[in-house]
Amino acid sequence: MREIDSVAKLTGYFSSLPGVGRKTAARYAYAVINMSADDAAGFAAAILEVKEKIGLCRVCGNFTDADECEICRRRDHSVILVVKEPKDVAAIEKIGDYTGVYHILHGVLDPSNNVGPNEIRISGLLRRLDGAKEVIIATNPDLLGEATAMYIAKLIKPFGVKTSRIAHGLPVGAEIEYADAMTLSRAISDRKEIL
Ligand SMILES: [Zn+2]
Repeated sequence: MREIDSVAKLTGYFSSLPGVGRKTAARYAYAVINMSADDAAGFAAAILEVKEKIGLCRVCGNFTDADECEICRRRDHSVILVVKEPKDVAAIEKIGDYTGVYHILHGVLDPSNNVGPNEIRISGLLRRLDGAKEVIIATNPDLLGEATAMYIAKLIKPFGVKTSRIAHGLPVGAEIEYADAMTLSRAISDRKEIL
């Protein structure tokens, strides 16, 4: 009975991952059973290592294993691109033509789910405006993303920093994370200033 329990437990963990259904989770669990002891130990250690080492960059909020992430350490801080999640940074970095830094909100304003300005990383963004020339807001082009963009633009206004919104090349309701590189690149380069 105990063996079955441990398989069920592992299957449960796999099925909690995004995009993994019950069937796939069971296949993953059986793949682990078939691993060599060394591979299984390495797999488990890699999971623990990520949890131990990866935290948030104290400047931008991206995942990093250092105090300050690689992008913040090396890049031009005069342009700050604001996104909802670390996954969006990965999508934009894949295009390869953005040279500024990021600010990750870790969410968008969502009043019906009690997510207000204090629940996302907005105040950290305002502290970074010293020396910034432009803030590009690249939250998703859906209802909450737009409302969050407008809210942030209003807060930045008194600081006199140019604020722009990525262009609507992205279909409404689309997610940055899944946009193809060409569309994403155009949405950024055709951004419009929020006046
Ligand atoms: Zn950073």
